[in-house]
Amino acid sequence: MSKKLNGTVIVTYRCNARCNMCNRFKAPSRPEDEISIETIKKLPEMYFTNITGGEPFIREDIKDIVRELRKKSDRIVISTNGFFTDKIIDLCKEVPDIGIRISIEGLEQTNNEIRGLPDGFNRGYTTLKKLREMGMKDVGFGMTVQDRNAPDLCELYKLSDELDMEFATASLHNSFYFVEAKNIIKDRPMVAQNFENLVNMLLKSNSPKKWFRAYFNHGLINYIYGQKRLLPCDMSFDTFFIDPYGDVMPCNGTKDKEVMGNLNDQTWDELWNSEQAERVRKVVRCCDRDCWMIGSVSPAMHKYIWVPAWWVIRHKFKALFMKKPYSMYELKVVRDYRDGKVSKEELDKCSTCDFNAVANNGLKDCGGCGCDK
Ligand code: SF4
Ligand code: SF4
Repeated sequence: MSKKLNGTVIVTYRCNARCNMCNRFKAPSRPEDEISIETIKKLPEMYFTNITGGEPFIREDIKDIVRELRKKSDRIVISTNGFFTDKIIDLCKEVPDIGIRISIEGLEQTNNEIRGLPDGFNRGYTTLKKLREMGMKDVGFGMTVQDRNAPDLCELYKLSDELDMEFATASLHNSFYFVEAKNIIKDRPMVAQNFENLVNMLLKSNSPKKWFRAYFNHGLINYIYGQKRLLPCDMSFDTFFIDPYGDVMPCNGTKDKEVMGNLNDQTWDELWNSEQAERVRKVVRCCDRDCWMIGSVSPAMHKYIWVPAWWVIRHKFKALFMKKPYSMYELKVVRDYRDGKVSKEELDKCSTCDFNAVANNGLKDCGGCGCDK
């Protein structure tokens, strides 16, 4: 029997939101091209499946997709902007054991400005509360931290804590998936300070899961300063993404789309063991984009568990006698920036932000030129 994998299924590139850090809404997939149930049936056994988009609840057949994926996955989490409350509730009534992550980009005004969805905060928040009232266990917030919403980070965490919900964080990334090449954190110390505050709150909690989340957020500070990943990236070895066209990819962080094969045309075993898949694995081994997104970090945290575990043990020990057991200045680059040993321009060059790049949108009919064809 082949080993179980970790998969992300991008069911659509259509989206009803207009986020400032993602241009996916400008490059939607056509409904008739989007991954079919027949293709989903060909996916392998998975220990974890993330269903994402675009906005996955735009798909009329989202229930059928979930039903099919449940047959082959131990755990399913759907990432959504939470706008389609009735559809989300309806699905969760049928499958209460799935997880729902609603991305909320800050408190009300900030969220609505970033997301470009009228009443987006209230829609998302209402959906979360209704799911909780229904007794759904695995529900939570997801927030992509940028200069504009960093001051809301801890407030949003407190809100999720009051509701006893998960709180997932990310920061700005550039890739074909976001159809974006110009995302960058401008005020790194300010954003890092907010992450530091969050890390300390998480470390002070009684939840081992939150202690490991603290490590993830420590990694986000490292990431926004453009440093090497704290853990190796093994995407495409035991983890994959599949896009609305059936193209299987290592991840969603590459500049251009890297394709291991197409599941509409191949069987899973043919695709996974193909020369093309091996070529992509070599690209991953040399990848220097140093993303820090939960999709690639969570498998690495499980695989190299002793690295985050040792970090957690040291900081929990410090928490016994220190009010703030964690400091962002533990990272050399943060100290160097404070001490003027490295400039903002040098750090900017370490990021994936490229103001001259034309973002590849990864669409079926486009060779990656970024046009609207
Ligand atoms: S970040 Fe998500 S919700 Fe926002 S435009 Fe992109 S796909 Fe849509
Ligand atoms: S670092 Fe990993 S997740 Fe990021 S682009 Fe490279 S292979 Fe993909």
